[in-house]
Amino acid sequence: MLKRLLITIASLAVVVAGVLLFLQKSQTASAKKNDSVLVVTTNSILMDMVENVGGKYVTIHSIVPRGTDPHEYEPRPQDVSAVVESDLIFHNGLNLETGGNGWFTKLVESAHKEEDGLVFSTSEGVTAKHLTGVGKENEEDPHAWLDLQNGICYVKNITKALVEKDTKHKAYFEENSAKYIAQLEKLDKEAKQKFKNIPEEKKLLVTSEGAFKYFGSAYDLQAAYIWEINSESQGTPEQMEQVLSKIRDSNVQNLFVESSVSPKAMEMVAKETGLSIYSTIFTDSLAKKGNDGDTYYGMMKWNLDKIHEGLSK
Ligand SMILES: [Zn+2]
Repeated sequence: MLKRLLITIASLAVVVAGVLLFLQKSQTASAKKNDSVLVVTTNSILMDMVENVGGKYVTIHSIVPRGTDPHEYEPRPQDVSAVVESDLIFHNGLNLETGGNGWFTKLVESAHKEEDGLVFSTSEGVTAKHLTGVGKENEEDPHAWLDLQNGICYVKNITKALVEKDTKHKAYFEENSAKYIAQLEKLDKEAKQKFKNIPEEKKLLVTSEGAFKYFGSAYDLQAAYIWEINSESQGTPEQMEQVLSKIRDSNVQNLFVESSVSPKAMEMVAKETGLSIYSTIFTDSLAKKGNDGDTYYGMMKWNLDKIHEGLSK
């Protein structure tokens, strides 16, 4: 009798678990547009690129919310179920999502997706730059997208993966991709021309995180920062001393702070040097929808305009 009761309870538990899984599945699936590829991206920048190429034939779940740091992140239950159900997963690679707690690797492993060959690094083919901090020289710097030419490489990788996944919409994806790349090329060309007129002694871009190595070499600027990467301690006395001495050696008049970090350390630099923070700029995240910088094109245009203005003073 007791044995039979236990068996009944056990089979009931399996049924309940099954129903819960079904409900969870149908919730995510209901957001899916007809005939579309279910895509997961790790952050808002990649989401926007996929949207530009995939248009009406993609449904996207982006993991790290806008305005939030993608280096360190704790996935939510809805991220896990989106990864389980996804057709394609795009991440930045180059240590962006694995710099701190390795959250992305763990997430993909727990969903058993890596072996499916559905996980794509959008930075594939980019020439990586490395960190310069002592003991970190072998670690790649993730911020490649801040050079528009690298962003174009990301878009090409995304296009290739979408075309392979959904061959019947090949022409649509390729047409969107070509139009989008043409816009990015134009912005890049204009920016390169524009930055030539800043005097050498003012070509110093001061930010909190050292996210501008790729940007600096693309637009011919030196980059100075308080800390090199968000996953390390931020604003230590040694870091402050270093950045202050670089600023004193230059003739730069303005500082910048990124939208996805705390402004406290940069406010201290401003106080110490008497310089002002000219503008917020975008590195690891797009702006909230409806604001300036809410697309990849928009964030790059904003950064290029504001940095050019601030350094020209
Ligand atoms: Zn960063």
